[in-house]
Amino acid sequence: MSYELHLAKIDLVARRVHRLRMRRPSGFTYVPGQAVDITLARDGWRDEPRPFTIVSLLEDPDLEFLIKAYPDHGGVTEQIAHLSDGASVTVSDPWGALRDRGDGLFLAGGMGITPWLAILRARAAAGMPVQSTLLYAVEAQADLLAIEELRAMVGLTLVAVVAEDPGPDHRHGRLDRALIQKHLPEAGPVYLCGPPPMEEAVTEVLRDLDVGDDRVVVEG
Ligand SMILES: Cc1cc2nc3c(=O)[nH]c(=O)nc-3n(C[C@H](O)[C@H](O)[C@H](O)COP(=O)(O)OP(=O)(O)OC[C@H]3O[C@@H](n4cnc5c(N)ncnc54)[C@H](O)[C@@H]3O)c2cc1C
Repeated sequence: MSYELHLAKIDLVARRVHRLRMRRPSGFTYVPGQAVDITLARDGWRDEPRPFTIVSLLEDPDLEFLIKAYPDHGGVTEQIAHLSDGASVTVSDPWGALRDRGDGLFLAGGMGITPWLAILRARAAAGMPVQSTLLYAVEAQADLLAIEELRAMVGLTLVAVVAEDPGPDHRHGRLDRALIQKHLPEAGPVYLCGPPPMEEAVTEVLRDLDVGDDRVVVEG
């Protein structure tokens, strides 16, 4: 099933990242961490669905997305960056394998923060203790999303790793083996989401550190 929706609000929240809000259709439900396919109701783009994660809480009357634009792709995200309030989009039913499997180590590269933000928000809103660590790697400080909200989550150890221009509050560097090893719990899930090269590199590191594939929560 798909839903024709209008943007209630679109605004810029980080470097090339827009927040899109739209009224949640009645009966539309999802599991935190899931994505939908969004299609633009514009000539030339109606057959170009792209996946984006729902980051709003289930009890929120709106659906919220955080979408990074890639102008060099000349694709859908570049179009999204030029949308205005009221624009029409089509949203699919939710899908995806990422789920909350309990406290653990969350690893995010860039926009890979979105499923973990959805899960951590849901845990915090439900008053569930968040006894987890989030290693959140981005290129520059300007890429960080919801950093104050994440920092305020009780029980969440947040390490923001910034490759360039880290500023005084963030660790300089990348999500490397030493950092993962330092924060790796003996048991429990390891959540992994990021660009494909990052996921591949981290998967190798995790295997090398004897983390069984059954512990790793990753979109297959
Ligand atoms: C389950 C899931 C959830 C996701 N959730 C989010 C989310 O919440 N927020 C978010 O921002 N992103 C998310 N993404 C990523 C998002 O789907 C992509 O960024 C988006 O599909 C890119 O669409 P696009 O049309 O702009 O570019 P693409 O579809 O990547 O590219 C369009 C065309 O540009 C060309 N191209 C591709 N790469 C390059 C390149 N590097 N340089 C030049 N040209 C290129 C190709 O010819 C391609 O056909 C998610 C992805 C998945 C799988």
